[in-house]
Amino acid sequence: MKIKDIRVSRIKAPLKKPFRTALREVNSVEDVLVEIETDDGLVGLGEAAPTAVITGDILGSIEDAILNYIRPAILGMDVLDTDRVFLAMDKCILHNSSAKAAVDMAVYDLLGKYYRVPLYKLLGGYTDRIKTDITISINEIDEMVEDSVRAVRDGFDTLKTKVGGDYKKDIERVKAIREAVGPGVKIRLDANQGWRPKDAVRVINALERYDIELIEQPVPAWDIDGLADVTRAVSVPVMADEALFSPNDALRLISMRACDILNIKLMKAGGIHNALKINYMAEAAGIECMVGSMMECKVSVTAAAHFAASTHNVTRLDLDAAYLLADDPVAGGISYDGPDISFAEGPGLGITGIR
Ligand SMILES: [Mg+2]
Repeated sequence: MKIKDIRVSRIKAPLKKPFRTALREVNSVEDVLVEIETDDGLVGLGEAAPTAVITGDILGSIEDAILNYIRPAILGMDVLDTDRVFLAMDKCILHNSSAKAAVDMAVYDLLGKYYRVPLYKLLGGYTDRIKTDITISINEIDEMVEDSVRAVRDGFDTLKTKVGGDYKKDIERVKAIREAVGPGVKIRLDANQGWRPKDAVRVINALERYDIELIEQPVPAWDIDGLADVTRAVSVPVMADEALFSPNDALRLISMRACDILNIKLMKAGGIHNALKINYMAEAAGIECMVGSMMECKVSVTAAAHFAASTHNVTRLDLDAAYLLADDPVAGGISYDGPDISFAEGPGLGITGIR
């Protein structure tokens, strides 16, 4: 099954409502779609999300990396020789984790199609029933309360609430949401690097009374020592997100015990082959993983869901991105019933078409 061609195009979708974090606001998704064609006529699909403020990847850089670096490096290789394919890809250009993620998931889609099994089965087959949280964008308190109450009414039992602004206001936000949704709903918080370590400790300790499941990336991505200080100083579990890209990052975070949980995203890790390495290291250290995504269309969210379902060590999911789309151009792949995610029957990613 030799790689005959690699093509890129664009995939677009509007959002139901603007997505706002401490880092950015987006109203629609436009990603790079990758198709890998093999000499026996199979086509594998992948998708890369440009998230300039997190990965540094933008549409043009993703397309250039795929067409002018990765494509010549792996053209003609046998898809079944995955270790050789991924080594060539990872060595031909530094960073560019989103471009690599898209090519990686297209390779895994092809493997599933070749062996005629859904990808989560090929990767480990732990479960076919997974459940995502839902993101509550950072906004004025009334709007966040309204969004939270609606999410709970729609069946979600875990909210991922964006904080990381003015920390006094963040405490008001969480207090108001907890009072509105009651005690039965899990609230996990994502500060998106919004606080300095000492402020983070103060605000997390103040938030603890609102029964917080975990706090994600409280401090800047580069400040691993600061993250470790916060993790040691608070009893709420701390999760690394923007501080974790590669398996090397995971090794450092784990060996420093800088966090309690890892948030793996394919766009940061550079694909499933690296997500597997991160997850195995975490498991060996007794650390659970969450699988999340950027704002993405359903090709790459489906790939992340297959990886997440394949292993028992992924205990949390933040894969609501495709649920937040007002109009979804992808047919097949995962489907949502509120928070419940199910997989298409077909092999690989199970995607049947893109308009
Ligand atoms: Mg995050």
